[in-house]
Amino acid sequence: MMRPENLAQLFLSAQTLNGVGPRLSTLLKKVIALPSGINEARIIDLLLHLPTGVIDRRSKPSLEEVEAGNIATFQVRVSEHHRPPSGNRKAPYKVTCKDATGTIDLIFFRTEHRFVEQQLPIGEVRFISGRVEKYGTQLQMVHPDYIVTPQTKLSLPLLEPIYPLTAGLSGKVLGKIIRQSVKLLPELPEWLDDKIVASRQWPTFADAVRLLHIPKTLTDISPIAVARTRLAYDELLASQLALLLLRTHRKQPGRSISAKGILRQRLIDTLPFTLTETQKKAANEIESELASDKRMLRLLQGDVGSGKTVVALLAIATASEVGAQSALMAPTEILARQHAETISYLASEIGINIEVLTGREKGPRRKEILKRTAEGEINVLVGTHALFQPEVIFDDLALVIIDEQHRFGVQQRLALQSKGRDGGANVLAMTATPIPRTLLMTHYGDLKVSNLTEKPTGRKSIVTILVSLERLEEIVNGITRAIGKDTQVYWICPLIESSDISELSAVEERYAHLSQIFSNRVGLLHGAMLPTEKDKVMAAFSDNLFKILVSTTVIEVGINVPNASIMVVEHAERFGLAQLHQLRGRVGRGETQSYCILLYKAPLSNTAKARLCMMRDTEDGFLIAEKDLELRGGGDVLGARQSGMPAFRIANVPDFNDLQGFARYNADRVLLDNPDLNGPQGHALKTLLYLFEFDEAVKLFNSA
Ligand code: ADP
Ligand code: MG
Repeated sequence: MMRPENLAQLFLSAQTLNGVGPRLSTLLKKVIALPSGINEARIIDLLLHLPTGVIDRRSKPSLEEVEAGNIATFQVRVSEHHRPPSGNRKAPYKVTCKDATGTIDLIFFRTEHRFVEQQLPIGEVRFISGRVEKYGTQLQMVHPDYIVTPQTKLSLPLLEPIYPLTAGLSGKVLGKIIRQSVKLLPELPEWLDDKIVASRQWPTFADAVRLLHIPKTLTDISPIAVARTRLAYDELLASQLALLLLRTHRKQPGRSISAKGILRQRLIDTLPFTLTETQKKAANEIESELASDKRMLRLLQGDVGSGKTVVALLAIATASEVGAQSALMAPTEILARQHAETISYLASEIGINIEVLTGREKGPRRKEILKRTAEGEINVLVGTHALFQPEVIFDDLALVIIDEQHRFGVQQRLALQSKGRDGGANVLAMTATPIPRTLLMTHYGDLKVSNLTEKPTGRKSIVTILVSLERLEEIVNGITRAIGKDTQVYWICPLIESSDISELSAVEERYAHLSQIFSNRVGLLHGAMLPTEKDKVMAAFSDNLFKILVSTTVIEVGINVPNASIMVVEHAERFGLAQLHQLRGRVGRGETQSYCILLYKAPLSNTAKARLCMMRDTEDGFLIAEKDLELRGGGDVLGARQSGMPAFRIANVPDFNDLQGFARYNADRVLLDNPDLNGPQGHALKTLLYLFEFDEAVKLFNSA
């Protein structure tokens, strides 16, 4: 079955909506967590961008009754305009409005006079909504949120969802386009069991989406509202079904790779160090699974710096020995290039051809890489998600390695994997963010795990210190001394999610500040820079050309500069624990004692304090991941995203942990009854799979 027509329109670009152009599309991309490989927001992404709260505008008091400080909606008649004296740009434009009981002044700062005049003609009736204040004894409202006429009254959302926003994108604009998207929802067949729906009193999928974006009551939208729960369950069910289907239907044996181990041994002999015991164990587990005729699906978990790359390289050597190809996919450009660099030296020692493919390889160069890949001449292709695009064809892809796998959804994993002969390459997924045992089973029922539990010898533990931002000067003095001894420093600033501060201001301000003190010994790195610029800065830092690298979290994964031994994280309280742990792992790679300084803004809440103390007291990534989940509690969607949990959009929050087992159980049961997804129920379930983009799973039925 192809993606059904009525669903197809949900996957069109958001730019097909009225009022959405390239500029808005760029903002949407910033605020919505898109599946990797998707470069612009689509209608479905808007529909699944759920609100985090609600503004209640239902209160419609008379002006006499209203209480200052509250949000309210009034029906008033416009009575007088008070233009600011010309020449005084600071004075506001004031419009006095009346109802039968009193008056209120609407206040506009730096607003086009024409706009105010058009919106509020004298003598007309208007509905006004916003926060009411008192100025002396006079009621006023500064920049009302809504001004509508009696004819357009319905466009004023009395319960207005609050969405995560970004600078330049207002809730009003986002709400408007999301409401437009909601209208495009087709009626969908019910894929859930009647009994489940009835007993839980769940709305249909389409109604659930509607209720969340156009709520009728406050409870519609709460974090545990039936609507939200239903969608989370749908998402979990879809992923469980997809995993089970792929396991049971892909009966074809996997690519068995039984090499003599010559290249592998040569690689081990070439290494400038000896493998740790757990590296050996993991490598052997991988080796024997590759040799078997079952397809490998294995997760390699190991803390930052535990040496996962070399384990992957050993597997690559095995595949290369039998003439099969490997692909290594990393989440960012920088990381992909760094991998290629690390690997290429060792690879050339043992005669393996390696090439990089990212969005930056263009024109004839790209063509040539694609051709050599298709002809099997390249043994290892390293890249970003560019690797799973359709134009990339392998001669014999036998091994897919996915670094920092939590950055990719199941969908991407499957797309790359299916490029193997007969659609099933062996997969080795690597992660430095350990997935708590409680989640492993339900997210990755089909995955085996190897753990790297030791650190390579010679690695020192990192001293972590918590310091209030008020003591910034002391820290700067300490850094001056450290730099004198030739140490290098990472200085991380948070991205700011607030809508009124430019996203980059924190990192740019700190860069300016430190540059004043350390002049040209400071570098700047952030996500808005061009990849070429970023690489240049990283390379310069790596060559010790400057001492301090001020950066956003773009350096979070994989970067390796052994001479950097101090990591400062500013506003550490705003980061996820797992993310802090990742950041900290950038230091402690060289000979000298390393420090991680967590600068926090006082006062800290109890939870924030507990989280930071946890960071100070342990370097055990597993413990940190478990604790993070426990401390975060429900509702902290951003935290969930940061902690690197598998990429669910709705079911990401701990509130829904209980649902996972239920989804797994029901997926099992459904497939037991109807393994080929026949009949109306089968059709409905395929629709569900399409909706959550598990197309790979539905494709299994195309040939049948
Ligand atoms: P991660 O698991 O974080 O991806 P890497 O694979 O990047 O870690 O390894 C980090 C560093 O440790 C690299 O410089 C690597 O060469 C080195 N390394 C890996 N294994 C060992 C080992 N057994 N002994 C000493 N150093 C090692
Ligand atoms: Mg790594």
